Amino acid sequence: MQAFFVAINPNLSYKLCMKVMKFGGTSMATAQSIKAVANIIKKTEECVIVVSAPGKRFDGDEKITDLLYDCYKTYLELGRCDVRFKEVIRRFEELSLALGVNSLGPLLTDIKNEINGGKSIGYVVSRGEFLIAKLLAEYAGVEFVDAIGLIKFDGSGKIDYETTRSRVNKRLRGLGVCIVPGFYGVLPNGIIRTFSRGGSDITGSLIAASLDAEVYENWTDVDGIYFANPLLSKSNKIISKLSYEEMRLLSLMGAYVLHHDSIAPAVQASIPVKIKNTFNPCSDGSVISNIGANETVCGIAIKENLCLWEYGDSEFIRDYLASRQFVMPLPSGQRQFVITEMANAEEIDEIISTKSGVSAKKISVITAVGENIKKSACLVTKRILDCVSDLEFLVYDGALGLYVGVNPDNAVELYQKICASLEFN
Ligand code: ASP
Repeated sequence: MQAFFVAINPNLSYKLCMKVMKFGGTSMATAQSIKAVANIIKKTEECVIVVSAPGKRFDGDEKITDLLYDCYKTYLELGRCDVRFKEVIRRFEELSLALGVNSLGPLLTDIKNEINGGKSIGYVVSRGEFLIAKLLAEYAGVEFVDAIGLIKFDGSGKIDYETTRSRVNKRLRGLGVCIVPGFYGVLPNGIIRTFSRGGSDITGSLIAASLDAEVYENWTDVDGIYFANPLLSKSNKIISKLSYEEMRLLSLMGAYVLHHDSIAPAVQASIPVKIKNTFNPCSDGSVISNIGANETVCGIAIKENLCLWEYGDSEFIRDYLASRQFVMPLPSGQRQFVITEMANAEEIDEIISTKSGVSAKKISVITAVGENIKKSACLVTKRILDCVSDLEFLVYDGALGLYVGVNPDNAVELYQKICASLEFN
């Protein structure tokens, strides 16, 4: 009999392809939604699950993180947080009871005592993510890994990417499925620091980048990124794929999508970001990657409450505008104008009455976005002009944005017309 020998190089390490899934506040808000999350993660193998604190269950409800900010304030005012913390306890007890989880009781008592003992604000407001991650880990029967052992900030409060990357790889690789609370990490002195609000997206994206994950899935309560704002337009079309740049411009110009900064680590590492719906897991969702949309126009955003400044060659206004936040790039041409966020009306009145050559007016900007616009900019422009008769300006940036400035009084109506005209292109 012939023998076969296979030479195995001991230096070749097998690198597991991992996935990171982040579930937002609405996915963690009720026992029913947590069951839906557990069903989704049951089907995964090598996967890190990042969670936000429970969000609102209905209109007028309070997010757990808001309650915790209030607990901290109450502690500062009264020396104890109990009157507000009662509500946090009630929410977690309700969830625990409905899901048959019984480890949270002592943790809730410890946390209340820590807050009353003067713990930092970062500690207090991060407890929503901590507790819900503990609850989900027990309910789903998977390991809990605290973010304080993973996400590191440097002494000035900036993310320490290198240490984070190394800790994440050491602790999470090969672990199978585990749950990590989003929104916080730790400073070199051991004190907990949180990201800005909505920061669990950053945690997810940071872990995905550290692990070179095959995909970063962001699970929320919509089917993906909409072609148009569903609250303003009849369109309910979902963009199936779009590039990081297309998403960045849509969010900059007013679309309600993931904020570009919140996924920056994943973007830098070229990791595809997928938006999925916890309540409709079979829908395909939207994929954001280096590959742009197939359509000419992939989405249309609207941004209201802006100010259009025309300033001729006034030096003053240039300095003034430099101190304000620009919303869109300066179009070139004979007209010298810029768009900023709206200043208050008195401020504007004072500037235009004292500075000659300066005018300002309220404006809304509708932006058609798509990398393919450059192939048919004339056609898209014509379609828009067919919808809008009196516009303030129409500027194409030569790349992926076509900006239309319109009077705020009929902006929504024009937006609807433009969306209907460009939805199937
Ligand atoms: N719970 C935090 C907030 O409400 C962070 C997050 O949800 O991402 O901002």
